[in-house]
Amino acid sequence: MTALVIAEHDGATVKAATLHVVTAALACASGDVHVLVAGESAAEAAGSVARIAGVARVIAADGPSLADNLAENLGAQILAMAQGYSHILFAASAHGKNVAPRVAAKLDVAQVSEITQVIAPDIFERPIYAGNVIATVQSSDAIKVITVRTSSFVAAAASGGSAEVQHVEGVSGTTRTTFVGREESKSERPELTAAQVIVAGGRGLGSAGHFMDVLAPLADTLHAGLGASLAAVEEGFAPNDWQVGQSGKIVAPQLYIACGISGAVQHLAGIRDAKVIVAINSDEEAPIFALADYGLVADLFIAVPELVAALEAA
Ligand code: FAD
Repeated sequence: MTALVIAEHDGATVKAATLHVVTAALACASGDVHVLVAGESAAEAAGSVARIAGVARVIAADGPSLADNLAENLGAQILAMAQGYSHILFAASAHGKNVAPRVAAKLDVAQVSEITQVIAPDIFERPIYAGNVIATVQSSDAIKVITVRTSSFVAAAASGGSAEVQHVEGVSGTTRTTFVGREESKSERPELTAAQVIVAGGRGLGSAGHFMDVLAPLADTLHAGLGASLAAVEEGFAPNDWQVGQSGKIVAPQLYIACGISGAVQHLAGIRDAKVIVAINSDEEAPIFALADYGLVADLFIAVPELVAALEAA
C-alpha cells in the first residue's frame, strides 16, 4: 500500500500543511509515501519535499497547465497516476478541498473528509456536528481519497529525508477553464493555521478600527496572528481570511486569546485544538468561558490595552 500526498507550495516553498499530511500518510500506508509536487518550474519546492523525513519519492510534474493550481488540471494530473496508490491525501485546506472532491468523484469513490486520526489503513476518525461528535468511519474503496485536518497530526520533520525525485511531464490542460488572476492578501503576521499565538476578536470589538487600535497592538506584542469570528467578518470588521471556526479556519495555536467573542459552537469548533484558550468578555455568562482555560470578565477596551502595557513593561 503506497500513499500519495498532494503537496501545497508556491513553486519555491512548501506549505507547513504538507508536513502534517505526510505524517497522516505514514500512518495510513504500510508501504512508501510519495508526494506529488505539481507546478511549473517548481524544482525548488520539489527539492524541499525530497528532504521531508519519511518521504520515499517525490513526483515532480511540470508543465504550464499546472502553473496556477487549477483544480481541473491538478485533478487530471492526480487521476493520471492514481491507480498505483491505496491512499491519496490532501490537506483539508481551501486548496485541498478544491481538488479532492473532483478526484474522488472521477474515481467513483467516497471521499473521507477531514480525518483527525488513523485507526487502521481503512478506518479513520473525523469530527461531525461542528466537532461535538467524533465519527469512526471505514472505507472499503480501493483508493481512499482523504482530506486531513492538519492540526490533528504533528508535522513531519522538514529535513533528514533524501527521497528520489521523479520528473514527469504535466498533463495537457483543460480548455474549458482558464486562469484569469489572483488577488492575495499579504500580511507580515503569521498565517492562522500555523500561528503559535492568535489574538481574535468578535462582534464585541464594534468596528474595523477597533481591530486595528485595540487588538493589533496585542497581536504585535505577542507576534501573533489576528483572527475573527464570523460575526466580526460579516459586520465588516475583519477580512474573510481571518475567520476562525467551523466554516473558517481550524487553528491549533499554543495560545488563543478571544476578545469579545461569545463562544458559539461554530466558533469553538475551530479552536478546540488550541493548547491554552484565554477569553475576555464582559458577559460572565458567555459560553466561551466554559471552554476557556483562563477567563477574564471585563470590558475588552479596558483590559486589552492594560494587558499590552503590562506585557511591554515586563
Ligand atoms: P456575538 O455572539 O454577538 O458575541 C459578541 C460577544 O462580545 C458577546 O459575548 C458580548 O458579551 C461580548 N462583548 C460585547 N462588548 C464587549 C466588550 N466591550 N468587552 C468584552 N466583551 C464584549 N462563527 C464563527 O465565529 N466561525 C465560524 O466558522 C462560523 N461558522 C458558522 C457556520 C454555520 C453553519 C452557522 C449557522 C454559524 C456559524 N458561525 C460561525 C456563527 C456563530 O453561530 C455565531 O453567530 C458567531 O460566532 C458569533 O460571533 P461573536 O461571538 O463575535 O458575536
